[in-house]
Amino acid sequence: MAGKCKWCSGDMEVFLPYARLSLCRSHFRNYVVRRVKRTIERYGMINSGERVLVALSGGKDSLVLLHILSTLRDSDDPKFSLKCEVEAVTLDLGIKGYSERCIAVARAHCEKLGVPHHTIKAAELAGFTMDDVASRRGRPTCSVCGVVKRYVLNKVGVEMGFDRLATGHNLDDEAAVLLSNYLSANVELLSRQSPVLPAREGMISRIKPLFEVSERETAMYAQFQGLAPVDGKCPYAIAPSTLKFKMVLNMLEEEVPTMKISMVRGFLEKVKPLLKKGETGPLRRCVACGYPSSSEVCSFCRLKKIYGPM
Ligand SMILES: [Zn+2]
Ligand SMILES: [Zn+2]
Repeated sequence: MAGKCKWCSGDMEVFLPYARLSLCRSHFRNYVVRRVKRTIERYGMINSGERVLVALSGGKDSLVLLHILSTLRDSDDPKFSLKCEVEAVTLDLGIKGYSERCIAVARAHCEKLGVPHHTIKAAELAGFTMDDVASRRGRPTCSVCGVVKRYVLNKVGVEMGFDRLATGHNLDDEAAVLLSNYLSANVELLSRQSPVLPAREGMISRIKPLFEVSERETAMYAQFQGLAPVDGKCPYAIAPSTLKFKMVLNMLEEEVPTMKISMVRGFLEKVKPLLKKGETGPLRRCVACGYPSSSEVCSFCRLKKIYGPM
């Protein structure tokens, strides 16, 4: 691809079809960082001075999120600055060989970016490792892992007094889940789908600052910034059910370059307000641990009973 950056005399390295923009490496970085800042402001994700905990898996998207938030935190230029405190947490899920590598990658990037890093032994809290779960027949390991991650990240965020828990979900993730929920007419899940969930008692506010940045963009950002995500996939990873929706959306986007962003924004601005009812049911508490739960005993505590030591 020959050509020049729209904003300087540098060579074009990225073309963004939806914006008809040719950018050099450094203007691409600025473009993404500013977009994330605008997303954060538009959706009220982080107020000045708040403490943000990044859920840092060591994968590409969470590293990009960490890099962008620390860039915003450190910048003196009003176009790129956001007053907030940033820390990161990585869970040790007890996946031999893999968990250790994720933690090492996360720690190395935090050190480089000057971000305090916490490692939490999620397997100890649960009383079982993901290796234990995988070795027994029953629920798919990924689904058990998802419950444990959600529960432990929330608990850590609440107990350490953070204002927000930030996750690395990108535009492709959001659009795929949205399409899946539309097609199954899952009004309950649709009404809860949001890039920013407010705090409730016992629940930290959850934010997705990258939800307007596409998968392709986070991949390029990671590459250009020299971020080195954990090598290889989790040994228990299965193709997520959203994969086919991502493929369909990519096909559609070849025809209509703004498909994903207009789908997600259109939902949030026009459809979601109509679904507002039923968004927040009465808050129940798990009788075993006291954290919010939709049933008498929360799914984390039920898993502890199934997989944990007697
Ligand atoms: Zn440029
Ligand atoms: Zn519980």
